[in-house]
Amino acid sequence: KFSYQHRLGIGSGNPTGKIPLGLKRKGLRIVVTGGAGFVGSHLVDRLIARGDSVIVVDNFFTGRKENVMHHFGNPNFELIRHDVVEPLLLEVDQIYHLACPASPVHYKFNPVKTIKTNVVGTLNMLGLAKRVGARFLLTSTSEVYGDPLQHPQKETYWGNVNPIGVRSCYDEGKRTAETLTMDYHRGAGVEVRIARIFNTYGPRMCIDDGRVVSNFVAQALRKEPLTVYGDGKQTRSFQYVSDLVDGLMRLMEGEHVGPFNLGNPGEFTMLELAEVVQETIDPNARIEFRPNTEDDPHKRKPDITRAKELLGWEPKVSLRKGLPLMVSNFRQRIFGDHKEGSS
Ligand code: NAD
Ligand code: UDP
Ligand code: UDP
Repeated sequence: KFSYQHRLGIGSGNPTGKIPLGLKRKGLRIVVTGGAGFVGSHLVDRLIARGDSVIVVDNFFTGRKENVMHHFGNPNFELIRHDVVEPLLLEVDQIYHLACPASPVHYKFNPVKTIKTNVVGTLNMLGLAKRVGARFLLTSTSEVYGDPLQHPQKETYWGNVNPIGVRSCYDEGKRTAETLTMDYHRGAGVEVRIARIFNTYGPRMCIDDGRVVSNFVAQALRKEPLTVYGDGKQTRSFQYVSDLVDGLMRLMEGEHVGPFNLGNPGEFTMLELAEVVQETIDPNARIEFRPNTEDDPHKRKPDITRAKELLGWEPKVSLRKGLPLMVSNFRQRIFGDHKEGSS
């Protein structure tokens, strides 16, 4: 078995673990599970641009080849159609483990599969990390806080989660994935990192994936009413995808296990979000109220003090700046004039 330091050639001979000045950084071999999805594909772009070799592992449940096809033909890029619920043998230095549907509509579609992906899938990737001495990063979620009784949410909060509800396959699944990650860390010495991601939006989101930002943007572009669930007073905090990718990479490269909240503290009610969408796309877009879904968290906003202090990270793109970037991508995809893989 290898340790992560041995893998990178920065073992006992180099106590600082830093790459000596004058030596070119060696490209890493990195697996991104779920790399054909929304967040994963943006992460892959950054890793490839940095000079690393990337293997995407994806079963294409919610991911699309179009998200990564601009890397086809690049010898530093490989795409494997594989379901992480099955074991996988690879030799790599780092594992970014993103594979899991993220939209409530998708993760509720086959809840047992969602649990298997979170539990067995994470177990397999941790087993892989242990065998080859790779560093492992879990993309967990703000949903581990459930319908939070603390506001904003700090990483020390243990959450308020319904174990038998329709969202449990996802939030309890991710909580178990966090537990497995810490147990492999404590028990087997695997180098791990845990990110708790808050609602993220941007180019390449599935157009009809049912999440609120993609729904509102697609609806406004198609001249359909914006569907606000419930009274629209529930809140979320929306992060632009480039900020998230920056946070994930800092977390992976840094020295702290976490968990770290990665999110934008700008908090909006769904009615306020609808207004921003109206301002950005169509001031005449109508709003239509619909019944809310079961167990919908009433409010959500990250406390990002820990990430600021220990990772030197904070989001840079406000909702009003980020939304237009997503809108132009959605416009191209909905009305044609579409360049695949463009962001
Ligand atoms: P996404 O649905 O676009 O991407 C998930 C990817 O995982 C897809 O490409 C899908 O095909 C793949 N996948 C799903 N099940 C798989 C399996 N069993 N084996 C292999 N591949 C599988 O979602 P996203 O928004 O890019 O989310 C990525 C990660 O970030 C997820 O783990 C999600 O839980 C987490 N996250 C996202 C958000 C957000 O707002 N986007 C918030 C919190 C957490
Ligand atoms: N695993 C994998 N790839 C590897 C090593 C392990 O997919 O390179 C899987 C393995 O099949 C097992 C899981 O990861 O289901 C946990 O592996 P570990 O070695 O920790 O446990 P064990 O195999 O002893 O149950
Ligand atoms: N929502 C909405 N209209 C929609 C889709 C979602 O009002 O068309 C609401 C939903 O009830 C929730 C919030 O938007 O309160 C965020 O939902 P989403 O599915 O995007 O993510 P969640 O944070 O629930 O995982």
